[in-house]
Amino acid sequence: MAKRVVFLGAGTGGVMAANRLARKLEAEVKSGEVELFLVSDTNRHLYQPGLLYVSLDLAEPQGFQRPGQELLLPGVKLIQDGVSKVDPRLQYVECESGKKIEYDFLVIATGSVPDFEAIPGFAAGAHSFYTLPEALKLRKALQEFKGGKILLIVGVPHKCPVAPLEFMFMLDESLRRTKKRQDVQLMYTYPIGRLHSLEPVALWAEKMFQEREIASEVFFNAETIDPERRIVSTLEGEEVAYDLLVGIPPHVGAKIIRTSGLGDRDGWIPTDRSTLKMKGQNSIYVLGDATDLPISKAGSTAHYQSEIVAENLLHELRGELPTALYDGKVFCFIEAGLNEATHITFDYENPPRPSTPSPMTHLFKLAFNEMYWLSLRGVI
Ligand SMILES: Cc1cc2nc3c(=O)[nH]c(=O)nc-3n(C[C@H](O)[C@H](O)[C@H](O)COP(=O)(O)OP(=O)(O)OC[C@H]3O[C@@H](n4cnc5c(N)ncnc54)[C@H](O)[C@@H]3O)c2cc1C
Repeated sequence: MAKRVVFLGAGTGGVMAANRLARKLEAEVKSGEVELFLVSDTNRHLYQPGLLYVSLDLAEPQGFQRPGQELLLPGVKLIQDGVSKVDPRLQYVECESGKKIEYDFLVIATGSVPDFEAIPGFAAGAHSFYTLPEALKLRKALQEFKGGKILLIVGVPHKCPVAPLEFMFMLDESLRRTKKRQDVQLMYTYPIGRLHSLEPVALWAEKMFQEREIASEVFFNAETIDPERRIVSTLEGEEVAYDLLVGIPPHVGAKIIRTSGLGDRDGWIPTDRSTLKMKGQNSIYVLGDATDLPISKAGSTAHYQSEIVAENLLHELRGELPTALYDGKVFCFIEAGLNEATHITFDYENPPRPSTPSPMTHLFKLAFNEMYWLSLRGVI
C-alpha cells in the first residue's frame, strides 16, 4: 500500500515543502509507492510581501498572484477544500466537503492571520496592508490624503516583523516623490521599549528614523480606536490623535488550529524547535507561521524549514531515522526607501546585524520578488 503524506495549506511553507519532497521522491511518487496530497482552501497563491508595494501604488496585485495548481510539481495532487478536522490519533483529516483523507505523515502549514477584532474600533478606524482588500483600501486612502498625521500602530505577534519599518521608509519615499512630504507628519509606534523586537534592528531603525525625520514612540499598545474623534487610546493611558491610521493587528493561528485543539489559545502549534515535529506527535511536522517557535513569522523561515521537513520525510518514508535539524535560520530583506535596502540573517544563536542600506540590496530584493515563484518550486 502507498505511503501518504498530506500537506495542509498551500501558502509559502506548504507549497515549498511538498515540491521539495516531490523532487526528492520522484521515482517513488511515479511508481505509486508514495502519494503526496496538498489540501488548500484557496485556488490563488498570493506573494504576501507584494502587498507593501500594492498599498503604496508601486505595483498592481496581479503580478503577485498565481493559480495554486501552476506552482506544484507533477506528483503533488492538489485538493481544493478547507480542512475542518484533524485527527492525530486515527491519522486522518476531514475536509469541509466531508471528504476524509488518511495520512502516514501530516505537514501543517496553515499560516497566521491578522486579528482585526483584537482592538475595538480597528475595522472602522484603521487601514492595513496585511490582506489584499486592506492593501487596496489603504492605497485609495493614501491617494486621497491631503496632509496631516499618519500614525502606525503595531500589535504582536505579527508576520514579517520588519514590514512595519519597511512601510514607513517606503511611505516616506513615496511622499517625497509626490512632493507631499512637508505636509505629512509620520509617526511609528511599537509595543515594547524599543523600535523592534530584535535589538540590533531596533538600533538600526532609530538611526534611520532620525535621518528620514520619522517620529516614533515605544511602549505604545493600542487599546481602543475612536474613528469619529480619530483618537487611539493606549494601555499606557495616552490618547493620540491621527488623520490617517495604519495598523498591523496582533496575529493568531489559522481557525482550524484554534478550533481543533491542536494549538494553544491563540492557535500556535507546540513545535520542537529543531526537529519541527509537533510536540507529542511522531507523524506530524509543522512549519512556517503556524508554529509556536520564538522566531520571526516570515516566508524565509518557512523556506529554510521546508528543507528540513522534506529531508526528514524522505528518510522516514524510506524507513530511516530523520536527522536534519532546524537551526532557527531566517533571512530578511528590509526595504529602506529611496531605492535602498538592507538585509539581515540570524538564527537561534546569532543575532542579526543590519548593514548600511544600499541600492544593490534594493535591486536584489526586487529580483527576489520575481524569483519567489522559482523558490516555491524548490529550485532556489
Ligand atoms: C505585507 C507583508 C509583507 C511580508 N513581507 C515578507 C518578507 O519580506 N519576507 C518574508 O520572509 N516574509 C514576509 N511576509 C510574511 C510571509 O508572507 C509569511 O510569513 C509566509 O507566507 C508564511 O508562510 P506559511 O506557509 O506559514 O503561511 P501562508 O503563506 O500564509 O499560507 C497558509 C495557507 O494555509 C491555508 N489554510 C489555512 N487554513 C486552512 C484550512 N483549514 N484548510 C486548508 N488550507 C488552509 C491558507 O489559506 C494559506 O493559503 C510578509 C507578509 C505580509 C502580510
